[in-house]
Amino acid sequence: MKEYYLGLDLGGTKILTGLADSEGKIITRSRRDTEADLGEDKIIENMIATIEDVLEESDVSKDQIITLGIGSPGPLDSKKGIIIENANLPWKNVPLVERMESALGIKTLLQNDANAAALGEKWFGAGRNVENMVYITISTGIGGGAIINKELFTGVNDNACEIGHTVIDPNGPLCGCGNHGCLEAFSSGTSIGKRAKEAAAAGESKEMLELADNIVEDIDAVICAQAAYQGDQVARDIFKNAGYHLGIGLGNVVNTFNTEMIILGGGVMKASDLFLDEAIKTMEDIALAGSLEMVTVKEAELGSDIGLMGAIAVAMEDRLVKND
Ligand SMILES: [Zn+2]
Repeated sequence: MKEYYLGLDLGGTKILTGLADSEGKIITRSRRDTEADLGEDKIIENMIATIEDVLEESDVSKDQIITLGIGSPGPLDSKKGIIIENANLPWKNVPLVERMESALGIKTLLQNDANAAALGEKWFGAGRNVENMVYITISTGIGGGAIINKELFTGVNDNACEIGHTVIDPNGPLCGCGNHGCLEAFSSGTSIGKRAKEAAAAGESKEMLELADNIVEDIDAVICAQAAYQGDQVARDIFKNAGYHLGIGLGNVVNTFNTEMIILGGGVMKASDLFLDEAIKTMEDIALAGSLEMVTVKEAELGSDIGLMGAIAVAMEDRLVKND
């Protein structure tokens, strides 16, 4: 009997599910709205519906599925299979693994989305040929996941690699977590957007204001990037500054983990030519020589499939480690 795996990428607005063969190749996929506003039961109902979609379409039966892997925003407890809570999903202490297993009869594994993405890049993306790597996502926030000796390092209770909340400058801007000067408060898309708004409100960038039809509130990282590409110096400096602080974060990662690779993903990387050179230069300045000569910084390869491939990697992790 052929073996298959399921990966489910749970997001605040959409659920993506893929059925993969034993090589991790996606055979069919399904996408449905999360409908988070309709509550916990409805979300789980929609998750199950995406799984029924892919099974039906592929003519694969439930007993051919070895494992279901779920990548979800956290905080969560991967060992107990419980989602503790989440800003975009209306749940608290939901025993998601237990509920999926009793509804489907399929062994289920849960992992937070940044860790799942790290596993995805390790097994199916830029990290395929390395044993030690750190994945960092630069998006609305900044998160990360570390692979040590081919295995995910989660920490004692899934909080390892919160790179976004390492403090870069204690006198820096306030972060959502309550600390000052976290990496996320400097270099996330949200923070870049915030700096851009402040600059436009202070009359420093006509270009950004024009791109936002003079509505300061509408200015975000995307508009800041557009202005930067049009040559707006203030917008360019905002990205350069984000890159400088990211570089300090990367240098800290190099000095802490001594991995072969750091992989950078997330939406902000679409504008990587505006900040990555500055980040690498700063990283090189502060990283210790012995670690620096071993590390390569690469862009993530899985693109918009990273959530789904990450969930599939969660499902397949044991098999992948064993067969490697
Ligand atoms: Zn923070």
